[in-house]
Amino acid sequence: MKTLIFHSLETSTVEKLALELRGEIELRKNHYRIHTNKNFDIENYRLVNNIDLNIFDTNFDYQNIKLMVSDMDSTLITVETIDEVAKEFGLEKEISLITEEAMQGHLDFTESFKKRLSILKGISNSSFESVYNEKVEFSPGAKELINFFKSNQIKTAVVSGGLRFFAEKLQSQLGIENCRANDVEIINQSITGNVLGNIIDAKEKAKYIDELCDQYKFKSSQVIAMGDGANDIEMMKVAGLSIAYHAKPILKQYCDIQINFGSLTNLIDFFEDV
Ligand SMILES: [Mg+2]
Repeated sequence: MKTLIFHSLETSTVEKLALELRGEIELRKNHYRIHTNKNFDIENYRLVNNIDLNIFDTNFDYQNIKLMVSDMDSTLITVETIDEVAKEFGLEKEISLITEEAMQGHLDFTESFKKRLSILKGISNSSFESVYNEKVEFSPGAKELINFFKSNQIKTAVVSGGLRFFAEKLQSQLGIENCRANDVEIINQSITGNVLGNIIDAKEKAKYIDELCDQYKFKSSQVIAMGDGANDIEMMKVAGLSIAYHAKPILKQYCDIQINFGSLTNLIDFFEDV
């Protein structure tokens, strides 16, 4: 028996799917579940119906999740912050192309970061505050999702291959407990092009999960990792539950759950029994 989560309360489509799957419909809070014995191609159903569908894994202990680690750019927020900074200085064409290539997995992340930073070398960090205030928007459901986890005693963390300034702003605005991002050197208010410490690439993101597990005494199987780009792949591999949010095709291959159409709150559908 398989349980399919239908992340919507739209009756006609769920009835059509249940009929095709010869399944039984169960109404839950904010979503439906279909229980079926029939085999099906979930990818095809997602594409044909343009809806979020996921398998509820009855062997996985969703109630034992203790920590949620999320990427920032294009996951908790709708933009790529480095691209937004670049726009302020008319450098968006050069920069956003490199960001996109890195997120698709066509370009090594560390190289892409160094390259983008070298283009930004010399610019003033005085624009960061206004870029954050004017360009950064939470992804739909981000606040609700963080609040849901917090109210269920699940720890939260943001890990970003972007700049620490933005990650810390987001951290404090959303009330996230932990944060890791790139530290770039700034002297006399201008970006020198140097990075302080390790560049937060895919491996460093995964290492951060290990560090947090050590700190809190959690097992990696009790961790949710959420992201959208190629530099989130390694953390998807170590986490117990991995979520691709409006993600690049390369990342989806490594994830247990896909949110392709709806908001981040679709993830709550797995935890309503917590
Ligand atoms: Mg991202």
